[in-house]
Order: sequence, then C-alpha cells, then structure tokens
Amino acid sequence: MSKKELYKKIPKVDDILNHDETIKYLKSNSLHILKISINKILDNIRNDIKDLTDNNYSDYVINCEIIVKEIINDALKYNKMNLKNVINGTGVVIHTNLGRSCINKDTAMEVYKIASGYSNLEFDLKTGKRGHRYNHIEKLICQLTGAESAMVVNNNAAAVMLVLNTLSQNGEAIVSRGELVEIGGSFRIPDVMKLSNTDLVEVGTTNKTHLKDYRNAITDKTSLLLKVHTSNYRIMGFTESVTREDLVNLGKASNIPVYEDLGSGLLFDLSDYFKSTEPTIKSVVDSGVDVISFSGDKMLGGPQAGIIIGKKEYIEQMKYNQLTRAFRVDKMTLAALEITFRQYLDIETAKLNIPTIRNLTINIAEIIHKAEKLLNILCDIKNLHIEMIQDESQVGGGSMPLTRLKTYALKICIDNMKPNVIAKSLRNCSYPVVGRVKNETFLLDLRTIEEIEFNNIKKAFIEITDGGKNV
Ligand SMILES: *Cc1c(COP(=O)(O)O)cnc(C)c1O
Repeated sequence: MSKKELYKKIPKVDDILNHDETIKYLKSNSLHILKISINKILDNIRNDIKDLTDNNYSDYVINCEIIVKEIINDALKYNKMNLKNVINGTGVVIHTNLGRSCINKDTAMEVYKIASGYSNLEFDLKTGKRGHRYNHIEKLICQLTGAESAMVVNNNAAAVMLVLNTLSQNGEAIVSRGELVEIGGSFRIPDVMKLSNTDLVEVGTTNKTHLKDYRNAITDKTSLLLKVHTSNYRIMGFTESVTREDLVNLGKASNIPVYEDLGSGLLFDLSDYFKSTEPTIKSVVDSGVDVISFSGDKMLGGPQAGIIIGKKEYIEQMKYNQLTRAFRVDKMTLAALEITFRQYLDIETAKLNIPTIRNLTINIAEIIHKAEKLLNILCDIKNLHIEMIQDESQVGGGSMPLTRLKTYALKICIDNMKPNVIAKSLRNCSYPVVGRVKNETFLLDLRTIEEIEFNNIKKAFIEITDGGKNV
C-alpha cells in the first residue's frame, strides 16, 4: 500500500462523529472538546504516515475502531483535573508537597461564598468609598497575638522580602551565622536579602553567637537586627545563641528595630501534647520584638499566606511599599484567613476544627481506634497482610525537626510486591494514596488519615491487587 492510500484510509471526521461509541460519548460530554481530540489524533496519524520509511510503512494499520477509542480517551482527559486530592498516609502533618494545611468545611464554605459573589473587599460600606483589604482581619490578628498592627501578603517568603526591603533597603541587617537558613524549595535568607537590597552582616559562628558579636557589628549603616527561627534544623551540642530579650534590649539601646522571621507561627502552647520547641506568637510579641512574620499554612493551619505583625510605625511603612501591591493576597485567601483566625477565638474550637491543629493534638486512643477500623475494612482483601504497629509521625512544614509524635500505623504487605512497588502503585490509583516506606515495609500512618477516606483506601488496594495495574 502506498502512503497516498494510507492517507486515504484515515477516517473522515463525519465518520468518527457518527460512530456508535462517539454518539454514546456525546450524550454526556462536550462536542467542542471532542473536536479538539479528533484534530489532535488525526494530525498525529498524518505525521506518523509522513515519517514512515520504505521499510516499515507496509506494517502500518489504520483501524477506525481503535482511532475512535483513542480520541474518546484523549477527550476524557480534558475533563479530569490534574490537581486532585490525595490521601496523606505519611504521618507528616504539614506536608509541603501535599499542600501543607487542609482547611475545614466552614472555611471552605466561607471561601466559596466570598469568591462566588461580589464582596466589600476594598469597599467601605459605611462611607461608600474605597476601603482597604487588610482592614477585615487586622483587628482580629492583633487581638489574638497582642500585636499593635498587622498585615498579610502571599506567603512568608514574600513577608521576609517586604520587611527587609522596607526596613533595611540600602542598609545593613545583622544576622547570626547559625540562622542563615535554607528552607525547602531553595528559599535562602542570604539570597532574599540580596534581592531586597539589604546588606547582610553575618556575626558569630555556626554553633555560637554572643550578644557582643551583634553589638560589635553595629555601624551607622545598621538598619535591622534580624532573628530567623531555625525551623527545619537544629544545631546541637556546644551551642549558644542570643536570647530574644537580649536582642530586643540591644535594639532599643541602639535605636534599631528587631525583626524575627518566626517561620511557622503557633498561636497557642502545644507543650501539653508533645515536647514543643516553638514559641507562641504572643510570647514573641510580649518579648518586645518590633516586627514578626510567619506562614499562614504551617502551624496556623490556614491558607497560604505570610502574616506580618508588630509595631504600628513599621507595619504602616510596609503597607505603603510598592512591593505590597505585588505580594497582595486574593479575597479567597482573606476569607479563609479571617475564618481561621475567628476559630482561634475559642481554643477548644480550634483544636477540634482546624485540621492541622487537630492532627497535631489528636490523642493516641483516637489514632488506635482509626487504625483498628481501617484494618477491619482492609482485612478481607486477598493477598493483603496487615499488622498494626506503633510508630512516629512528624510535624513537618520545616517545624520542630526533632519532635516525634507517637502514632499508630498499618504495616501492609502484598504477596509478590515489594514495598516501593506498593507505594508507587497506590500513588497511581484513581484516588492516590501516599504512604511511607520505612525499613523495607510499607506503612500508612493513621494520624493524617480521616475516616471518610477509608473507602477510597480500600478501593485503591483492590485496584492494585485485582486489576494488576501498574504492577
Ligand atoms: C517556611 C519558612 C519560610 C517561608 O514561608 P512560606 O510561607 O513557605 O513562604 C520563611 N522563613 C522560615 C523560617 C520558614 O520556616
């Protein structure tokens, strides 16, 4: 058969549209999307034919049935979201790759309400004039943290940049060598400082920094004393760092503002639940630090945001910095933040309703209860061998790197399947499940799994054991 004849055999668009399978598909799907797929797949075939050589084109078959199937499968992909929910069986509560903090239903509803209609985002209903988007939450944040003033930007990285650019542009900021952190995704304090036009003055050594190191580094150009919470690592052993209080006193005596990048930001003390090394935001405010920033979606358990609080004179300057316009948050973020902060007005409500806080403070009996229940649901799947074991979960989000939370997990083995193959297959299920592989075993940590997810976990295991898909 010549190439010309092959081209002729390509089905006509009308033939495809009148095919039984297509007609069935179009009963509940869009014709426009189908046409995109028809053009794409037919183009591919034309290109394939063009590229055929004398040696292989006699083997090339054109089959209308197969082509229709291919087109429908391609069109179906357009209906599927790439961004989708996964089940977090890793036990890492604030898992940056899995979206950090989850919001609860009340929060999601508030976001839906605000985002789906017009709102008073920047409109003062009393005067009918332009209002400010930050006014909706400033008082609430101040009430909960004890700060004089507050504002919000896109994330804490933007907050760091805005604070440095506003308070220390063309000046020098002094920071301890023990605190020059890099956070996942290559956010490096020294690089952010460069971008914000701030000169970094490093003092002390990696393991020890004394107050006199800061004092000796102060010059006419010093515009900021910076403290960075070493969220994702600890320097252990022979160490010394300057206390917040000492740094504040030095700042006051030298008339230089003190800024602390707190990273996670915890609104209430968690030491009743586990050995917490995070200071509460309020305690940092009370110690007299002038400006503080923290993330919205780490320990706070809200949406992605960077929250900046502190003395009014400094926060006001930041509100007028042009960068604020570039870093500003959307109404969806503001709605989610406002309701999240409102939930903190009653700590018991926060513990129960904010998923991140609930997963951090959940008691061990509840985790055991969940583990037993899931074990019962999964135990009748063939080839599955399950054992409930005690294990440790992590806080995550670069917070409290050394803290381990006692937890229970299901250790799951499948006949003829290695643990990393189980992990890979579950990730590729229609409802992906992400577990952890530890000491050559596959584990699902029940701390971060909700009961409403149990059925989807069961479906995933059936999919990977029965269907043999991805094995
Ligand atoms: C996480 C973190 C950041 C970055 O915060 P994002 O909200 O992720 O932008 C900055 N500084 C510290 C100390 C952090 O822990």
